[in-house]
Amino acid sequence: MSILILGGTAEADILADLLRGHGIEFTYSLAGVTPNPKARVYPLHIGGFGGVIGLARYLTQNTVNMLVDATHPFASEMTKNALAASIQANVPMLRFERPEWDEPENANWAHAESLDQAAKILPAGARVFLSVGAQSMAEFAHRSDVDFVSRSIKPPSSPFSKTIVAKPPFDVAGEVHLFSKYRITHLVSKNAGGDQTSAKLVAAKQLGIKVIMVERPTPPVAEIARDITTAMAWIERRL
Ligand code: NAP
Repeated sequence: MSILILGGTAEADILADLLRGHGIEFTYSLAGVTPNPKARVYPLHIGGFGGVIGLARYLTQNTVNMLVDATHPFASEMTKNALAASIQANVPMLRFERPEWDEPENANWAHAESLDQAAKILPAGARVFLSVGAQSMAEFAHRSDVDFVSRSIKPPSSPFSKTIVAKPPFDVAGEVHLFSKYRITHLVSKNAGGDQTSAKLVAAKQLGIKVIMVERPTPPVAEIARDITTAMAWIERRL
């Protein structure tokens, strides 16, 4: 029995710890893009597989018989590849998809279908806290009429003048302090879900900051678990 977890998220780590606790063997895979990843005490695969063909080959050669895609909701390339490779290699796949953030009552959110649309919505002169990940910041670079403060785990390739590099989790008091310090008027965020980075939304509501929420790409059709218990049950049924 061999399980491959596509990780890089807090929930993938929780699932890995649970499997380890149950004595179930697995390999955990990371894209290898985050600097200084945390130490892990189970077998790791670091770096891409080489698209659908490469992943299908890996599944077959390593006699993987369960694939769990627990990558980030915006890691859409990996999710698409995982489903296609699982079909090609005839390996059952589960997509772990953490619930989205819902707009709280009396919050001031606008919804964008894409990063491009979010960049268009921002009014000239806005002071924007950009929280979309280092790889997605280039989409906003052309808005020279907007004042950006960006925050990401790794430095963006074309940093804005105010660039913060920090790792979640973040708390509400810290976010309120940051937004007040920079007199933020707008927050741009991907609808990542989860509680590691949700404090910014509470802080934005408290301070009356407009949130531009970039909605998720539609995931390809796959079996989906929205919580760890369901994901564990899916795995245990197949052991
Ligand atoms: P992506 O655009 O969907 O994937 C790009 C390529 O990176 C994939 O085609 C694959 O390369 C490789 N890859 C991605 N995840 C991998 C994994 N877990 N193990 C091995 N290879 C992987 O992904 P992304 O948005 O760049 O995200 C990369 C990683 O960061 C993911 O693990 C994701 O969970 C994590 N992450 C992403 C975000 C975000 O906002 N997108 C936020 C937080 C964390 P090959 O085609 O060569 O196999």
